Amino acid sequence: MKQRPLDIHSNDNTLFTTEQCNNHCIMCCQPPRKIDDIDHYYQQNIKRVLSAPKDLPLIALTGGEPTLMGDKLFSLIRLIREQLPNTEIHILSNGRKFADPEYAKALKLAGDNKVMVGVPLHSDYEKDHDIIAGSKGAYNETILGLYNLAMQGIAIELRIVMNKLNYMRLPQMATFIHKNLSFVTWTAFMGMERVGFADTKSTHIWIEPIEYIPQLCQAVQLLDDFRHEVVIFNIPLCLLPEQYHPFAEKSISDWKNKYTDCCEQCRLKEQCCGFFATSTQLYTGIKPY
Ligand code: SF4
Ligand code: SF4
Repeated sequence: MKQRPLDIHSNDNTLFTTEQCNNHCIMCCQPPRKIDDIDHYYQQNIKRVLSAPKDLPLIALTGGEPTLMGDKLFSLIRLIREQLPNTEIHILSNGRKFADPEYAKALKLAGDNKVMVGVPLHSDYEKDHDIIAGSKGAYNETILGLYNLAMQGIAIELRIVMNKLNYMRLPQMATFIHKNLSFVTWTAFMGMERVGFADTKSTHIWIEPIEYIPQLCQAVQLLDDFRHEVVIFNIPLCLLPEQYHPFAEKSISDWKNKYTDCCEQCRLKEQCCGFFATSTQLYTGIKPY
């Protein structure tokens, strides 16, 4: 996979670490491949870090699953901290590897307070999470991983990708987060990008956002009522009741963000996340303000 140059003006600077993953999520937008690519991307990323703009605010480590790099993940983080000491590091991980407390501890040693880990939780119910993650045992390892990260004082972004299999339980998930995962820095409810498995397996997994807005708003309200930080990613403002607009972020990476013709007449375009240019279809129910 060809990596885009690191650019100080972009809102999405990433180091792609591997196409491999120990999950096989049914909505994965970039389905994992069994391919021996860790060293290839590791060497490439060392060069990218060495030549990166020194004032980059944020760099994300993505995949696949970055923790499959093992200890090389920590070498890369140490290099980022040495070369780009003011840059925040955001790791997107399914969290399973952090079920090993020593691995979570090693991340804290390498990244200190510059690291945040974004971890997806697909359901509060073990079997649903494992079905969506495509891997038996994923839920238990992810939950244990979240606790081990929290024990190390590492910041966590909990990510809930809304889909046909989990949308009915969004309010129950919010209650679960309040009671059991209240240590997370924030919870992000995320609209799906309709690409990869989310498109090819759409009859099983795809649901139009307009259909889950009531459950989404109930979940956001519940977390907000308990004073947890909560955000909504990738949902256009015209699909959300106005009282929930303050939770919605301009979340889509600049290089894959687009608007439709009807957005041109909309007074909220500047604040709205718009759409994924990579999705094969637009959401239904779009209308300009
Ligand atoms: S954890 Fe992420 S990369 Fe791995 S299969 Fe799931 S969505 Fe894809
Ligand atoms: S019409 Fe376009 S810009 Fe306006 S809220 Fe809807 S998606 Fe956003």
